[in-house]
Amino acid sequence: MEIFEQLLEDYAVDAEILPPALYEKIVTGLVYWEDLDLKKLELELETANNGRINKTAVMQDILTDLSQLVLEDSLTGLYNRRYFNRALKSEIERSSREHHHFGLAIIDIDHFKQVNDTWGHDSGDEVLKAAAIIMNRNIRQSDTLVRIGGEEFAAIMPNIRHRVAKDVMDRLRLDIEKAIIEVNSNQLHVTVSIGVAVREPNQFLSSDELFKQADQALYQAKNKGRNKVMLHSEPVSTGLSSSEREALAS
Ligand code: GH3
Ligand code: MG
Ligand code: MG
Repeated sequence: MEIFEQLLEDYAVDAEILPPALYEKIVTGLVYWEDLDLKKLELELETANNGRINKTAVMQDILTDLSQLVLEDSLTGLYNRRYFNRALKSEIERSSREHHHFGLAIIDIDHFKQVNDTWGHDSGDEVLKAAAIIMNRNIRQSDTLVRIGGEEFAAIMPNIRHRVAKDVMDRLRLDIEKAIIEVNSNQLHVTVSIGVAVREPNQFLSSDELFKQADQALYQAKNKGRNKVMLHSEPVSTGLSSSEREALAS
């Protein structure tokens, strides 16, 4: 894989420090980044270098870069599902500790199969890339966009309440609806359906449960005719902290 060879070159690292069989597998592309087991790779590198080169800062940097590559979706440059699974859990834990609301949106391109069928798979890819850029410019800086697979994306939105989450996603939906995506001199249009779920700090929803809620809301958005944003449920709490409630009551 060129990208990996470039990495070794950037760090002026001799390919010899890698176990030959592993190096072969990587450069010939037999191993997809998605399938790379970083822990195993790290162990293999350590074993290979035992007694020769100590595990240096350079090795650490390579591993850090590798882990980034492993977590990236190669088509859109967004994070991939592998990252999503980890980030969702850890961000929810953090929100819990900090007593913050936490939002998750699942964004699915409508009738994307028709885009492929009409314009070809390559054009479909270009639409995915363009849609990813539009989505990315519509989320808050603290949010993270992920391509979770195919024509499905997710926005991880720490510290957000129902109304704002819905507004952010409505804006994103509208921006995609308005966009003219030019591919091979053709002007393409797509729309997206979005399901949003918000976890309140006093709820004990797991990442799986929250994902299920967002997915159910997405299903509703599709059923209601697509090009829509649906919230899984309205706020349970008043949205005020206990001290704010006390202040209002007094
Ligand atoms: P819906 O509105 O119900 O979501 O309909 P849809 O056509 O978007 O959904 P469906 O699940 O039927 O089709 C998704 C299509 O996305 C089928 C698949 O070939 C296509 N797809 C998945 N990954 C890629 C990709 O990386 N590139 C391209 N071009 N197409 C992809
Ligand atoms: Mg779709
Ligand atoms: Mg889909």
